[in-house]
Amino acid sequence: MVIQVTRSSMPDFKEYIKEIKDLWNSRWLTNMGAKHKQLEAELTQYLDTPNITLFTNGHLALECAIAAFNLTGEVITTPFTFASTTHAIVRNGLEPVFCDVNPDDYTIDTDKLESLITKRTSTIIPVHVYGNICNTIEIEKIAKKYNLKVIYDAAHAFGVTIDGVGVANFGDASMFSFHATKVFHTIEGGAVTYKDGSLSKKLNDLKNFGITGPESVEYVGGNAKMNEFQAAMGICNLRHIDDEIAKRKIVVERYLERLSSVKGIKLCKPQTGVKSNYAYFPVVFDGYKLNRDEVYEKLKAENIYARKYFYPLTNNFECYKGRFNVEKTPVAKYIADRVLTLPLYADLALDDVDRICDIILG
Ligand SMILES: *Cc1c(COP(=O)(O)O)cnc(C)c1O
Repeated sequence: MVIQVTRSSMPDFKEYIKEIKDLWNSRWLTNMGAKHKQLEAELTQYLDTPNITLFTNGHLALECAIAAFNLTGEVITTPFTFASTTHAIVRNGLEPVFCDVNPDDYTIDTDKLESLITKRTSTIIPVHVYGNICNTIEIEKIAKKYNLKVIYDAAHAFGVTIDGVGVANFGDASMFSFHATKVFHTIEGGAVTYKDGSLSKKLNDLKNFGITGPESVEYVGGNAKMNEFQAAMGICNLRHIDDEIAKRKIVVERYLERLSSVKGIKLCKPQTGVKSNYAYFPVVFDGYKLNRDEVYEKLKAENIYARKYFYPLTNNFECYKGRFNVEKTPVAKYIADRVLTLPLYADLALDDVDRICDIILG
């Protein structure tokens, strides 16, 4: 049997059918219908956020968030992330400036951040990598001092809290991804959460072609609306999210039990006060008897697919050739060359976790 790095959780078939049944009566399939409204209200609660706007995916949510703030010039971000973060900056006509990550949790290294700020810097877009939370306190201090906006890529951080506070409360805005591979999903989907409620209309207009009224189009918007079938999937999945995260925790605990004290295998330390969502299980092979690529191949030979995530770094993509220098983010490069995320999903059997560990350790 093939084991993929992830497997989408799905509600019971009948539960989803019941949820979408209304749509055959209403014939309202997209454009902010009843399911969309309901999911938005439920997520406002769950994520403990003052404001939320839903999108058809996380990437367009981030692009629209950047557009909504009218940002200019340079944006400080990290290259140890999914293509989306860097692309969203570039596609908005802004210039990414890459800060290195710290070697403990792979989020932005706030000790290196300040020296990258120039007169043209308008924004910081840090990433809560693997659900590890950035140093939000330091980031906020620096942002205040230089009057910068902060938009978090929180694609990995759904449901994570710090000292009981939802992660959506940090910075000016956060983007969440509800892609099928994420802890909570709407098949494809995403959201922006934000402090300033007056942004709500603009975000909603931007996802609908910039149409602001029956006869007016004020922004060069796109089409990034979440449809009713996506929202219905979200409503179902949200009912089971606590159970989903609890099951993932059991899998993670077994991995920890097996891999924690192995020489040459480095795992992320749990952060103090942080309630994790157990989104990923990253392993860094550093001085282990096998290197990362060898472990990857060894698992693959047994039909087990781990993922080199994140690799390559975004500042090393072909599309950015000649534009950035990976040597300026040596820690990110070091981690990207050695990291593997192991299969992790709610119904991954503990026997399979053991088998995966046996292959790695064998
Ligand atoms: C998944 C992901 C995104 C993009 O989200 P989509 O919903 O797939 O568009 C952005 N950033 C990070 C870090 C991600 O993991």
